[in-house]
Amino acid sequence: MNDPVAFFGNDDDRTIYDIRPVVILYWQCDSIVVMMKAEKLLMLILDGMPDRPVPEIGMKTPLQAARKPGFDRIVTEGAGGIMDVIGTGIVPGSDTAHLALFGYDPFRCYSGRGPFEAAGVGIECAPGDVAFRCNFATVDDKMKVIDRRAGRIKEGTSELAKSISGMKIDGIEVIFREATEHRAVLVLRGKGLDPRVSDVDPHEENSRILTSKPLSPEAVVTADVVNKFVQEAYRTLMKNPVNLERASKGLPVANMVLPRGAGTLRELQGFRERFGLKPAGIAGVSLIKGVFRILGFDTIDVKGATGGLDTDIDAKMHAALKNLTTHDLVAVNIKAPDIAGHDGNCAQKIEIIERIDASLQTVLKELPEEALIAVLSDHSTPVSLRNHSADPVCIAIRGKGVRIDGVNSFDEVSCSQGVLRGMRGKDLIGYILGIMGRAEKFGA
Ligand code: ZN
Ligand code: ZN
Repeated sequence: MNDPVAFFGNDDDRTIYDIRPVVILYWQCDSIVVMMKAEKLLMLILDGMPDRPVPEIGMKTPLQAARKPGFDRIVTEGAGGIMDVIGTGIVPGSDTAHLALFGYDPFRCYSGRGPFEAAGVGIECAPGDVAFRCNFATVDDKMKVIDRRAGRIKEGTSELAKSISGMKIDGIEVIFREATEHRAVLVLRGKGLDPRVSDVDPHEENSRILTSKPLSPEAVVTADVVNKFVQEAYRTLMKNPVNLERASKGLPVANMVLPRGAGTLRELQGFRERFGLKPAGIAGVSLIKGVFRILGFDTIDVKGATGGLDTDIDAKMHAALKNLTTHDLVAVNIKAPDIAGHDGNCAQKIEIIERIDASLQTVLKELPEEALIAVLSDHSTPVSLRNHSADPVCIAIRGKGVRIDGVNSFDEVSCSQGVLRGMRGKDLIGYILGIMGRAEKFGA
């Protein structure tokens, strides 16, 4: 673009229209100013990727040990930082962290995981509904849990779910739907429900299922309906042909459902109305799809996006680039690093980071000039803990208008020297709007 010959066309044009280049020169400068403004954002959320020092790789983190030229290029050409996604010392869940990253205060708008799981499998909760996440499980006739995941059942869950969905208990409608593998969602709909009830799921095997208890006087009806539903589900599921067949093959039967994590939906202003950006979201796991749906994102289904270690990263990135032409913001969640963290598998985490990086390098070649790219995480999932931690996450943003600091490695330590250090998760969208020139001036 800086080469006037390339811009103005060939020499012949200039000799014929002698004066035109001067006139156009002003127009060109103007157009450069316009193009200086970033207009779109590609946001890659690497679930649980940040970590802690790992002894077997010389006290480096998996990110420090991995070969990742794509990530490093983003921070070298842009800005780095580390941030507490929700707050200092708060261990984020994936759902609450994503809410924070999209500018919503999870302390105000989150009352449990259930409604997000429900939205993820396509059940639109109405205000007043109470939603639970559930597992299909195997229990014995004393209601003792033999297998919390019913042998990680994969097939037949749709038939099982249908057989216990649609019943009415004391005037309350029961909606039950399968999610991935042994997971499912229960939604109770009717008058006088309240989410403040305890779990049926004992969260461990060889324990009897628990009786759901009201945790507030208003929740007596809800706890009662949950307990009646669980008993009815047991009777119905025992007779289901899917289970008869599993029993004949010696597989654990899915004869029980274990509700937990009750929640109700709070009214939320949609992301687009709130921030003026048209958003799309890509995720394999239903919980994150649910967050996208509840915030009013267009949720894009991508073939091969499994939410597992085998997810098709290239397919997700390709879909993200495609949707960036029709949306202002495309957010992509890649769950695989979190899974490696929960598995405590450092080598696998490094391998996943390198696999994501290979895909990212292609994205960087194809990303339109007016797009910002941000790489970040919802929380850390250190392999040493096999769980989420409160450690801050690293972030890098590149694009027109973003300051360029001296950070050239995308990792938990190097990024702490970057200009974005100190940003919190809920500040991110505000920062992006500022870079895009969409922030309003406060004062004279
Ligand atoms: Zn997560
Ligand atoms: Zn996790």
